[in-house]
Amino acid sequence: MHELSIVMSILDIANNTVELHHAKEVEVIELDIGEIAGIEMPALDFAWQAAIPGTVLQKAERQINHIPGIGKCLECGATFPMPNLYTPCPECNSYFADVIAGKELKIKSLTLATAED
Ligand SMILES: [Zn+2]
Repeated sequence: MHELSIVMSILDIANNTVELHHAKEVEVIELDIGEIAGIEMPALDFAWQAAIPGTVLQKAERQINHIPGIGKCLECGATFPMPNLYTPCPECNSYFADVIAGKELKIKSLTLATAED
């Protein structure tokens, strides 16, 4: 399940960030997840429940920004909504397009809790 490896790499980054700032744990984690990044949210939730308890992310509030897919047609240059990778250009019906948004999978921000509290 590749969602588990995604959660593990998110956890790696969170651990490193907490260590770097001598913080205690993460309060809020904000994720950008593209509509066509190939992430199954139920699988991501399941992996999260399995991997996160006992870590710096266990109390973190998750905020997820779902980024809509946008394609740019390589034939006519139109940009258009791309709910999946097989969306033809609405102007010229070409299937040749660059994905210009919607494949994001990244941590947008981490809010850390300090060790003092
Ligand atoms: Zn086109």
